[in-house]
Amino acid sequence: MADSRKVGVLGGGQLGRMLIEAANRLNIQVNVLDVAASPAKQISAHDGHIEGSFKNADSVKKLAQVSDVVTVEIEHVDTHMLEEVAGQVKVEPSWKTLRMIKDKYAQKLYLKEHGVDVAESVDLEGKGVQGLKDVGSSFGYPFMLKSKTEAYDGRGNFVVKSEGDVDAAFEALGKRPLYAERWADFRMELAVMVVKTKDGVLTFPTVETVHEDSICKLTYAPPRNVSPEITQKAQELAKKAIGAFEGKGVFGVEMFLLKDDKLLINEIAPRPHNSGHYTIEACPLSQYDAHLRAILDLPIPASGLRLREPSIMLNILGGQTPDSHIQIANRALTSPNASIHLYGKGDARPGRKMGHITVTAPSLAEAEAEIQPLVDFVDDLKG
Ligand code: ATP
Ligand code: MG
Ligand code: MG
Repeated sequence: MADSRKVGVLGGGQLGRMLIEAANRLNIQVNVLDVAASPAKQISAHDGHIEGSFKNADSVKKLAQVSDVVTVEIEHVDTHMLEEVAGQVKVEPSWKTLRMIKDKYAQKLYLKEHGVDVAESVDLEGKGVQGLKDVGSSFGYPFMLKSKTEAYDGRGNFVVKSEGDVDAAFEALGKRPLYAERWADFRMELAVMVVKTKDGVLTFPTVETVHEDSICKLTYAPPRNVSPEITQKAQELAKKAIGAFEGKGVFGVEMFLLKDDKLLINEIAPRPHNSGHYTIEACPLSQYDAHLRAILDLPIPASGLRLREPSIMLNILGGQTPDSHIQIANRALTSPNASIHLYGKGDARPGRKMGHITVTAPSLAEAEAEIQPLVDFVDDLKG
Protein backbone atom coordinates (compact mmCIF):
# COMPACT_ATOMS: atom_id res chain seq x y z
CA MET A 1 0.00 0.00 0.00
CA ALA A 2 1.42 3.38 -0.97
CA ASP A 3 -0.35 4.97 1.95
CA SER A 4 -2.45 3.64 4.78
CA ARG A 5 -4.33 6.90 5.31
CA LYS A 6 -8.00 6.85 4.42
CA VAL A 7 -9.55 9.57 2.29
CA GLY A 8 -13.19 10.53 2.88
CA VAL A 9 -15.07 12.17 0.03
CA LEU A 10 -18.33 14.07 0.23
CA GLY A 11 -20.26 13.02 -2.86
CA GLY A 12 -20.17 9.86 -4.94
CA GLY A 13 -20.88 11.07 -8.46
CA GLN A 14 -18.64 10.72 -11.52
CA LEU A 15 -15.89 12.91 -10.07
CA GLY A 16 -15.72 10.74 -6.96
CA ARG A 17 -15.73 7.67 -9.19
CA MET A 18 -12.75 8.89 -11.23
CA LEU A 19 -10.97 9.91 -8.01
CA ILE A 20 -11.39 6.32 -6.85
CA GLU A 21 -10.01 5.00 -10.14
CA ALA A 22 -6.82 6.94 -9.33
CA ALA A 23 -6.86 5.91 -5.64
CA ASN A 24 -7.35 2.24 -6.53
CA ARG A 25 -4.10 2.22 -8.51
CA LEU A 26 -2.27 3.41 -5.39
CA ASN A 27 -4.31 1.04 -3.21
CA ILE A 28 -5.58 4.00 -1.17
CA GLN A 29 -8.98 3.52 0.46
CA VAL A 30 -11.58 6.18 -0.30
CA ASN A 31 -14.67 6.33 1.91
CA VAL A 32 -17.62 7.80 0.05
CA LEU A 33 -20.50 9.67 1.64
CA ASP A 34 -23.52 9.41 -0.65
CA VAL A 35 -26.49 7.17 -1.36
CA ALA A 36 -25.87 3.44 -1.80
CA ALA A 37 -24.76 2.37 -5.29
CA SER A 38 -23.76 5.89 -6.26
CA PRO A 39 -21.29 5.89 -9.21
CA ALA A 40 -18.23 6.08 -6.93
CA LYS A 41 -19.35 3.31 -4.58
CA GLN A 42 -19.98 0.95 -7.50
CA ILE A 43 -16.24 0.59 -8.12
CA SER A 44 -15.03 0.50 -4.53
CA ALA A 45 -15.72 -2.52 -2.33
CA HIS A 46 -14.92 -2.03 1.38
CA ASP A 47 -16.92 -1.32 4.50
CA GLY A 48 -15.82 2.28 5.04
CA HIS A 49 -18.50 3.98 2.95
CA ILE A 50 -21.21 6.03 4.63
CA GLU A 51 -24.76 6.01 3.37
CA GLY A 52 -26.38 9.42 3.60
CA SER A 53 -26.29 12.94 2.25
CA PHE A 54 -23.30 15.27 1.99
CA LYS A 55 -25.71 18.01 3.06
CA ASN A 56 -26.46 16.22 6.34
CA ALA A 57 -24.34 17.16 9.37
CA ASP A 58 -24.49 13.76 11.10
CA SER A 59 -23.46 11.95 7.94
CA VAL A 60 -20.52 14.31 7.42
CA LYS A 61 -19.46 13.68 11.02
CA LYS A 62 -19.62 9.91 10.50
CA LEU A 63 -17.44 10.20 7.40
CA ALA A 64 -14.90 12.28 9.30
CA GLN A 65 -14.72 9.62 12.04
CA VAL A 66 -13.57 6.93 9.59
CA SER A 67 -11.21 9.10 7.50
CA ASP A 68 -7.82 10.78 7.89
CA VAL A 69 -8.39 13.45 5.24
CA VAL A 70 -11.81 14.63 4.09
CA THR A 71 -12.32 16.17 0.65
CA VAL A 72 -15.22 16.89 -1.72
CA GLU A 73 -16.30 16.16 -5.25
CA ILE A 74 -19.08 18.74 -5.00
CA GLU A 75 -19.16 22.10 -3.19
CA HIS A 76 -22.85 22.05 -2.23
CA VAL A 77 -22.11 20.40 1.10
CA ASP A 78 -22.62 21.07 4.82
CA THR A 79 -19.61 23.28 5.53
CA HIS A 80 -20.67 23.89 9.14
CA MET A 81 -20.03 20.28 10.08
CA LEU A 82 -16.76 20.40 8.13
CA GLU A 83 -15.79 23.41 10.23
CA GLU A 84 -16.62 21.47 13.39
CA VAL A 85 -14.63 18.35 12.44
CA ALA A 86 -11.65 20.29 11.08
CA GLY A 87 -10.00 20.01 14.50
CA GLN A 88 -10.01 16.20 14.38
CA VAL A 89 -9.47 15.44 10.72
CA LYS A 90 -7.84 17.26 7.82
CA VAL A 91 -10.36 18.98 5.56
CA GLU A 92 -8.99 19.79 2.08
CA PRO A 93 -9.56 22.26 0.69
CA SER A 94 -10.49 24.30 3.77
CA TRP A 95 -14.17 24.56 4.78
CA LYS A 96 -13.68 28.34 4.49
CA THR A 97 -12.83 27.93 0.82
CA LEU A 98 -15.81 25.63 0.25
CA ARG A 99 -18.17 28.03 2.01
CA MET A 100 -16.93 30.97 -0.02
CA ILE A 101 -17.01 29.20 -3.37
CA LYS A 102 -20.38 27.47 -2.99
CA ASP A 103 -21.99 30.93 -3.10
CA LYS A 104 -21.13 32.12 -6.60
CA TYR A 105 -21.79 35.76 -5.75
CA ALA A 106 -19.68 35.71 -2.56
CA GLN A 107 -16.97 33.97 -4.62
CA LYS A 108 -17.02 36.81 -7.18
CA LEU A 109 -16.79 39.51 -4.52
CA TYR A 110 -13.90 37.67 -2.87
CA LEU A 111 -11.99 37.34 -6.14
CA LYS A 112 -12.56 41.01 -6.90
CA GLU A 113 -11.21 41.97 -3.45
CA HIS A 114 -8.11 39.94 -4.31
CA GLY A 115 -7.52 41.83 -7.52
CA VAL A 116 -8.83 39.14 -9.87
CA ASP A 117 -10.96 40.29 -12.82
CA VAL A 118 -14.47 38.81 -12.86
CA ALA A 119 -17.66 39.57 -14.77
CA GLU A 120 -19.41 42.58 -13.23
CA SER A 121 -22.14 41.42 -10.86
CA VAL A 122 -25.11 42.88 -8.98
CA ASP A 123 -26.87 41.43 -5.95
CA LEU A 124 -30.57 40.84 -6.58
CA GLU A 125 -31.67 39.17 -3.36
CA GLY A 126 -35.01 40.57 -2.23
CA LYS A 127 -35.19 42.96 -5.18
CA GLY A 128 -37.96 41.13 -7.07
CA VAL A 129 -38.92 41.65 -10.70
CA GLN A 130 -38.10 45.35 -10.50
CA GLY A 131 -34.52 44.46 -9.57
CA LEU A 132 -34.17 42.55 -12.83
CA LYS A 133 -35.56 45.46 -14.82
CA ASP A 134 -33.11 47.82 -13.12
CA VAL A 135 -30.23 45.52 -14.09
CA GLY A 136 -31.50 45.50 -17.69
CA SER A 137 -31.39 49.31 -17.67
CA SER A 138 -27.88 49.52 -16.26
CA PHE A 139 -26.17 46.47 -17.93
CA GLY A 140 -28.30 46.38 -21.06
CA TYR A 141 -29.55 43.13 -22.63
CA PRO A 142 -28.72 40.33 -22.74
CA PHE A 143 -27.55 39.82 -19.18
CA MET A 144 -27.12 36.59 -17.22
CA LEU A 145 -29.35 35.94 -14.23
CA LYS A 146 -27.78 33.44 -11.85
CA SER A 147 -28.66 31.62 -8.68
CA LYS A 148 -25.98 32.26 -6.04
CA THR A 149 -26.21 28.71 -4.72
CA GLU A 150 -26.89 25.10 -5.74
CA ALA A 151 -25.99 25.93 -9.33
CA TYR A 152 -24.33 23.50 -11.74
CA ASP A 153 -24.53 22.55 -15.41
CA GLY A 154 -26.41 25.77 -16.10
CA ARG A 155 -29.25 24.81 -13.73
CA GLY A 156 -29.43 28.14 -12.02
CA ASN A 157 -28.71 30.36 -15.03
CA PHE A 158 -31.16 32.26 -17.22
CA VAL A 159 -30.18 34.40 -20.19
CA VAL A 160 -32.36 37.51 -20.02
CA LYS A 161 -32.42 38.63 -23.66
CA SER A 162 -34.81 41.55 -23.37
CA GLU A 163 -37.20 43.19 -20.91
CA GLY A 164 -39.81 40.79 -22.30
CA ASP A 165 -37.90 37.89 -20.67
CA VAL A 166 -37.87 39.36 -17.18
CA ASP A 167 -41.09 37.74 -15.99
CA ALA A 168 -40.14 34.31 -17.33
CA ALA A 169 -36.69 34.62 -15.75
CA PHE A 170 -38.18 35.52 -12.39
CA GLU A 171 -40.71 32.72 -12.72
CA ALA A 172 -37.89 30.23 -13.39
CA LEU A 173 -35.41 31.31 -10.70
CA GLY A 174 -37.23 33.81 -8.43
CA LYS A 175 -37.41 31.41 -5.46
CA ARG A 176 -33.61 31.14 -5.33
CA PRO A 177 -31.08 33.70 -4.04
CA LEU A 178 -30.20 35.64 -7.18
CA TYR A 179 -27.59 37.91 -8.66
CA ALA A 180 -27.00 39.19 -12.17
CA GLU A 181 -23.89 39.32 -14.32
CA ARG A 182 -23.03 41.61 -17.16
CA TRP A 183 -22.96 39.66 -20.43
CA ALA A 184 -19.44 38.55 -21.34
CA ASP A 185 -19.18 38.82 -25.11
CA PHE A 186 -16.40 36.25 -25.25
CA ARG A 187 -14.37 34.97 -28.16
CA MET A 188 -13.85 31.70 -26.41
CA GLU A 189 -14.04 30.05 -23.00
CA LEU A 190 -10.86 28.74 -21.42
CA ALA A 191 -10.24 26.65 -18.33
CA VAL A 192 -7.23 25.74 -16.25
CA MET A 193 -6.96 23.04 -13.61
CA VAL A 194 -4.83 24.32 -10.73
CA VAL A 195 -3.18 22.16 -8.09
CA LYS A 196 -2.58 23.62 -4.65
CA THR A 197 -0.05 21.66 -2.61
CA LYS A 198 1.72 22.18 0.70
CA ASP A 199 4.55 23.75 -1.30
CA GLY A 200 2.77 26.02 -3.75
CA VAL A 201 0.52 26.29 -6.77
CA LEU A 202 0.95 24.29 -10.01
CA THR A 203 -1.16 24.27 -13.15
CA PHE A 204 -2.21 21.89 -15.86
CA PRO A 205 -2.27 23.29 -19.42
CA THR A 206 -4.93 25.77 -20.55
CA VAL A 207 -7.85 24.22 -22.42
CA GLU A 208 -10.68 25.60 -24.52
CA THR A 209 -14.17 24.70 -23.37
CA VAL A 210 -17.28 24.79 -25.53
CA HIS A 211 -20.63 25.05 -23.74
CA GLU A 212 -24.05 24.45 -25.21
CA ASP A 213 -27.12 25.52 -23.22
CA SER A 214 -24.77 26.44 -20.35
CA ILE A 215 -23.45 22.83 -20.15
CA CYS A 216 -19.91 21.89 -21.08
CA LYS A 217 -19.94 19.97 -24.36
CA LEU A 218 -16.31 19.80 -25.54
CA THR A 219 -12.82 20.63 -24.33
CA TYR A 220 -9.81 21.18 -26.58
CA ALA A 221 -6.27 20.82 -25.28
CA PRO A 222 -4.56 22.94 -26.46
CA PRO A 223 -7.16 25.62 -27.33
CA ARG A 224 -7.75 26.30 -31.03
CA ASN A 225 -6.14 29.42 -32.48
CA VAL A 226 -4.91 30.87 -29.21
CA SER A 227 -1.35 32.16 -28.82
CA PRO A 228 1.05 30.70 -26.25
CA GLU A 229 1.08 34.16 -24.61
CA ILE A 230 -2.64 33.91 -23.91
CA THR A 231 -2.56 30.32 -22.69
CA GLN A 232 0.23 31.34 -20.33
CA LYS A 233 -1.67 34.41 -19.20
CA ALA A 234 -4.64 32.17 -18.45
CA GLN A 235 -2.48 29.88 -16.32
CA GLU A 236 -1.11 32.86 -14.43
CA LEU A 237 -4.57 34.29 -13.80
CA ALA A 238 -5.80 30.89 -12.61
CA LYS A 239 -2.83 30.61 -10.25
CA LYS A 240 -3.46 34.08 -8.87
CA ALA A 241 -7.14 33.29 -8.29
CA ILE A 242 -6.49 30.01 -6.50
CA GLY A 243 -3.65 31.54 -4.51
CA ALA A 244 -6.34 33.57 -2.74
CA PHE A 245 -7.98 30.46 -1.25
CA GLU A 246 -6.94 28.25 1.67
CA GLY A 247 -6.35 24.55 1.41
CA LYS A 248 -4.95 21.85 -0.82
CA GLY A 249 -6.28 19.98 -3.82
CA VAL A 250 -7.19 20.65 -7.43
CA PHE A 251 -9.39 23.57 -8.47
CA GLY A 252 -11.10 24.16 -11.82
CA VAL A 253 -10.90 27.74 -13.06
CA GLU A 254 -13.32 28.76 -15.83
CA MET A 255 -12.52 31.91 -17.81
CA PHE A 256 -13.85 34.08 -20.60
CA LEU A 257 -11.39 35.19 -23.29
CA LEU A 258 -12.86 38.46 -24.53
CA LYS A 259 -12.53 39.77 -28.08
CA ASP A 260 -9.75 42.16 -27.03
CA ASP A 261 -7.83 39.20 -25.51
CA LYS A 262 -8.66 40.29 -21.96
CA LEU A 263 -9.34 37.42 -19.57
CA LEU A 264 -12.12 37.38 -16.96
CA ILE A 265 -12.75 34.64 -14.44
CA ASN A 266 -16.20 33.06 -14.81
CA GLU A 267 -16.12 30.79 -11.80
CA ILE A 268 -14.06 28.44 -9.70
CA ALA A 269 -14.70 24.87 -8.61
CA PRO A 270 -12.86 23.70 -5.45
CA ARG A 271 -12.44 20.13 -6.75
CA PRO A 272 -11.78 18.07 -9.89
CA HIS A 273 -13.74 19.47 -12.82
CA ASN A 274 -15.25 18.49 -16.14
CA SER A 275 -12.71 20.64 -17.98
CA GLY A 276 -9.94 18.45 -16.49
CA HIS A 277 -11.20 15.03 -17.58
CA TYR A 278 -8.84 15.12 -20.58
CA THR A 279 -5.88 14.84 -18.17
CA ILE A 280 -6.66 11.15 -17.56
CA GLU A 281 -5.38 10.23 -21.03
CA ALA A 282 -3.48 13.35 -22.11
CA CYS A 283 -1.16 14.05 -19.17
CA PRO A 284 1.23 11.84 -17.18
CA LEU A 285 -0.73 12.63 -14.01
CA SER A 286 -4.49 13.16 -14.15
CA GLN A 287 -6.38 15.80 -12.19
CA TYR A 288 -7.52 12.94 -9.93
CA ASP A 289 -3.97 11.72 -9.32
CA ALA A 290 -2.99 15.32 -8.57
CA HIS A 291 -5.91 15.88 -6.20
CA LEU A 292 -5.13 12.76 -4.16
CA ARG A 293 -1.43 13.54 -4.00
CA ALA A 294 -2.07 17.18 -3.05
CA ILE A 295 -4.43 16.37 -0.17
CA LEU A 296 -2.10 13.62 1.10
CA ASP A 297 1.10 15.70 0.72
CA LEU A 298 2.57 13.17 -1.74
CA PRO A 299 5.07 14.38 -4.39
CA ILE A 300 3.76 15.97 -7.61
CA PRO A 301 6.54 16.56 -10.16
CA ALA A 302 5.47 19.68 -12.09
CA SER A 303 6.31 18.09 -15.45
CA GLY A 304 3.78 15.35 -14.63
CA LEU A 305 1.08 17.93 -15.37
CA ARG A 306 2.23 18.60 -18.96
CA LEU A 307 0.23 17.76 -22.07
CA ARG A 308 1.64 14.56 -23.52
CA GLU A 309 -0.57 14.64 -26.59
CA PRO A 310 -3.29 16.97 -27.91
CA SER A 311 -6.75 15.85 -26.89
CA ILE A 312 -10.43 16.55 -27.26
CA MET A 313 -13.06 15.56 -24.73
CA LEU A 314 -16.73 15.16 -25.64
CA ASN A 315 -19.33 14.89 -22.89
CA ILE A 316 -21.97 12.20 -23.23
CA LEU A 317 -25.17 13.83 -22.02
CA GLY A 318 -28.54 12.25 -21.47
CA GLY A 319 -30.65 12.79 -24.59
CA GLN A 320 -34.17 12.48 -25.92
CA THR A 321 -34.32 8.70 -25.40
CA PRO A 322 -33.30 6.74 -22.27
CA ASP A 323 -30.50 4.94 -24.13
CA SER A 324 -29.02 7.64 -26.35
CA HIS A 325 -25.89 7.83 -24.16
CA ILE A 326 -25.36 4.10 -24.70
CA GLN A 327 -25.71 4.58 -28.45
CA ILE A 328 -23.01 7.26 -28.33
CA ALA A 329 -20.67 5.07 -26.28
CA ASN A 330 -21.26 2.16 -28.67
CA ARG A 331 -20.47 4.35 -31.66
CA ALA A 332 -17.21 5.44 -30.00
CA LEU A 333 -16.11 1.81 -29.62
CA THR A 334 -15.02 1.79 -33.26
CA SER A 335 -12.87 4.92 -32.87
CA PRO A 336 -9.30 3.73 -32.25
CA ASN A 337 -8.07 6.60 -30.08
CA ALA A 338 -11.26 7.19 -28.12
CA SER A 339 -11.20 6.42 -24.40
CA ILE A 340 -14.77 5.92 -23.26
CA HIS A 341 -15.95 6.65 -19.74
CA LEU A 342 -19.47 5.73 -18.60
CA TYR A 343 -20.37 6.84 -15.09
CA GLY A 344 -22.81 4.14 -14.03
CA LYS A 345 -25.59 6.64 -13.35
CA GLY A 346 -29.11 5.27 -13.38
CA ASP A 347 -31.60 6.97 -15.61
CA ALA A 348 -30.58 9.38 -18.32
CA ARG A 349 -32.30 12.75 -18.21
CA PRO A 350 -31.81 15.28 -20.99
CA GLY A 351 -28.62 17.19 -20.20
CA ARG A 352 -27.48 14.86 -17.40
CA LYS A 353 -23.79 13.99 -17.60
CA MET A 354 -23.73 10.23 -18.28
CA GLY A 355 -20.16 9.81 -19.47
CA HIS A 356 -17.46 11.28 -21.68
CA ILE A 357 -15.09 10.37 -24.48
CA THR A 358 -11.51 11.56 -24.85
CA VAL A 359 -9.58 11.29 -28.10
CA THR A 360 -5.85 11.94 -28.05
CA ALA A 361 -3.71 12.16 -31.20
CA PRO A 362 -0.30 13.46 -32.32
CA SER A 363 -1.96 16.69 -33.52
CA LEU A 364 -5.17 18.50 -32.59
CA ALA A 365 -6.23 18.32 -36.26
CA GLU A 366 -6.03 14.51 -36.15
CA ALA A 367 -7.99 14.43 -32.90
CA GLU A 368 -10.61 16.72 -34.47
CA ALA A 369 -10.91 14.49 -37.52
CA GLU A 370 -11.43 11.44 -35.34
CA ILE A 371 -13.96 12.96 -32.95
CA GLN A 372 -16.03 14.84 -35.57
CA PRO A 373 -18.23 11.83 -36.52
CA LEU A 374 -19.03 11.39 -32.82
CA VAL A 375 -19.89 15.07 -32.42
CA ASP A 376 -22.13 14.80 -35.50
CA PHE A 377 -23.80 11.71 -34.05
CA VAL A 378 -24.43 13.53 -30.74
CA ASP A 379 -25.91 16.50 -32.63
CA ASP A 380 -28.13 14.22 -34.74
CA LEU A 381 -29.45 12.45 -31.65
CA LYS A 382 -30.23 15.82 -30.08
CA GLY A 383 -32.37 16.60 -33.13
P1 ATP B 1 -20.84 24.54 -13.92
O1 ATP B 1 -21.51 23.27 -14.29
O2 ATP B 1 -19.58 24.80 -14.70
O3 ATP B 1 -20.68 24.75 -12.44
P2 ATP B 1 -22.80 26.70 -13.73
O4 ATP B 1 -24.18 26.14 -13.70
O5 ATP B 1 -22.21 27.14 -12.43
O6 ATP B 1 -21.81 25.70 -14.47
P3 ATP B 1 -21.78 29.02 -15.15
O7 ATP B 1 -20.41 28.51 -15.21
O8 ATP B 1 -22.05 30.23 -14.33
O9 ATP B 1 -22.85 27.89 -14.74
O10 ATP B 1 -22.29 29.32 -16.62
C1 ATP B 1 -22.39 28.28 -17.56
C2 ATP B 1 -22.06 28.83 -18.94
O11 ATP B 1 -22.96 29.90 -19.28
C3 ATP B 1 -20.68 29.45 -19.06
O12 ATP B 1 -19.69 28.47 -19.25
C4 ATP B 1 -20.89 30.35 -20.28
O13 ATP B 1 -20.92 29.60 -21.47
C5 ATP B 1 -22.27 30.92 -20.01
N1 ATP B 1 -22.18 32.14 -19.19
C6 ATP B 1 -22.14 32.21 -17.84
N2 ATP B 1 -22.03 33.48 -17.40
C7 ATP B 1 -22.01 34.25 -18.50
C8 ATP B 1 -21.89 35.67 -18.72
N3 ATP B 1 -21.80 36.54 -17.71
N4 ATP B 1 -21.88 36.10 -20.00
C9 ATP B 1 -21.98 35.23 -21.04
N5 ATP B 1 -22.10 33.90 -20.90
C10 ATP B 1 -22.11 33.40 -19.65
MG1 MG C 1 -20.64 26.37 -11.44
MG1 MG D 1 -19.35 26.83 -14.93
